[in-house]
Amino acid sequence: MSKVLDLIQQETNRQANTIRLIASENYASPEILTALGSSLTNKYSEGYPQHRYYEGQEFIDQIELIAIENAKKLFKSKFANVQAYSGSPANLAVYLALLQPGDTILGLALSSGGHLTHGHKVSISGKWLNSISYGLTTDGYINYDQIEKLAQEHKPKLIISGHSAYPRQVDFKRIGEIAKSIGAYHLADISHISGLVATGLHPHPFPYADIITTTTHKILRGPRGALILTNDPELAQKVDKAVFPGLQGGPHNNNIAGIAIALEYDLKPEYTDYCKQVITNAKALSKAMQNRDFEIVSGGTENHLLLVDLRNKNIDGDTLSKALNKVNIETNKNTIPFDTASPFKPNGIRLGTPAVTTLGLKEQDMETISEFISQVVNNIDNQSQLEKIKTQVIEFISKFKY
Ligand SMILES: *Cc1c(COP(=O)(O)O)cnc(C)c1O
Repeated sequence: MSKVLDLIQQETNRQANTIRLIASENYASPEILTALGSSLTNKYSEGYPQHRYYEGQEFIDQIELIAIENAKKLFKSKFANVQAYSGSPANLAVYLALLQPGDTILGLALSSGGHLTHGHKVSISGKWLNSISYGLTTDGYINYDQIEKLAQEHKPKLIISGHSAYPRQVDFKRIGEIAKSIGAYHLADISHISGLVATGLHPHPFPYADIITTTTHKILRGPRGALILTNDPELAQKVDKAVFPGLQGGPHNNNIAGIAIALEYDLKPEYTDYCKQVITNAKALSKAMQNRDFEIVSGGTENHLLLVDLRNKNIDGDTLSKALNKVNIETNKNTIPFDTASPFKPNGIRLGTPAVTTLGLKEQDMETISEFISQVVNNIDNQSQLEKIKTQVIEFISKFKY
C-alpha cells in the first residue's frame, strides 16, 4: 500500500482536530468524496454532452447534463459550463473568450481583497493583459467612485467584480452600470459568496453582469472545480469554446459528478439555513472578537468572513497565524486596507465561518473560538500555555462531526 494513503489518513485526522477558519475552505460530503474517488477518473470526454471526441459517454453525458441543469437552476442562469478545472482556469477561459492579449481589464487589487487572477502582475491575467486595479476607501469599502474614474480614464474592455477577502456586500448594479457606460463587459467572480448569492442572502450579479464565475469547493461545499454562467447565448458559445478546446483537454468527470451532487444539495431548503447560519456565525465571531479588543476591518461583516486588524495588538498576521496553527486553529495571514507591511508579514488575519458552520457550530461557539484566539495572542511566547490551549481546542472541536 502506498505511503501516501497513510498521509491522507493523517490529514483527515488533522482536519477533524482543527478549528478550520480559512474562509475559502469547507468540507465535501461523503457522497462527493465517493464521486471523486470513482471510475469516472478513468474516462476521457473531450467535448460536451452529445458532442464528444471519444466513445463510451452514455453515463458521463448524463452526469454532466445534471451538473449543468443544477447550476442553471441554482443561479437562475440560462447557460452553464461546468468543465473548468478550478476557479483560476475559469477566469482565464472568460478572458480567452472575451479579450485579446494586451486588452485592458479593471479589477479589485489583491492587496484590497481581490484575487490574483483579477489582474495581479504575477498572474497571467496581469502579464498578458493590461491590468488596472481599483481599491477600497479608508473605511474598508469598495471605492466605487474610483472604479468609475478609472473606467472613464482607461476604458477597460472588461471590469471584474468579486473578491477573496472582502467582508461587505458588493454593489454589482453600480459596477454593471459603470461597465455599460463605457461599453465594457462585466465579469462577476463570486467564488467566495456564491452560496449567499444563490440563496438570496447577497444581491445577485444578474442582470448587471455579463458572465459569472464561481469556484465549487468553497461555500458551495463541492469538490474543486468551477462554474461559468451567462444568460447570453453568444457569450455562452464563446465560453464553451474557450474552455475546450481553447484552454483545456478532457474534463475531470469525477469532479463534475461531485459538482452535480453538491449543487443538488445546494438547491435544498437546508442549504439556505446553512448559508444564513454562516452569516450569523461570522457576525457573532466579529462581535466576540471586538469584545476582546480586536479591531475588525470596516467594523464588521455582511458575509462569511472578517478581517482582523492586529496593529493594536502588536503582533503581525504571519506570527499570529503560525501560533494559531500550533494550537490547531487554521487561519491565514492577510493584508488589511492600506497595509504598509509586506504581504509576507501583513497586519491582519482573515477568519471565515463556512467550514465550522458545516460542522454545526453556532453563535455561542464563536465566543469560544474568539476566546481561544485571544488567549493565543496573550500567550504568544508561552509554549506550555499554548500546549494547554491546543488540548482544549481539540477537546472542543472533535465533538463536532460532519
Ligand atoms: C478562490 C478564488 C479563485 C480561484 O480559485 P482556484 O480554484 O484556487 O483556482 C478565483 N477567484 C476568486 C475570487 C477566488 O476567491
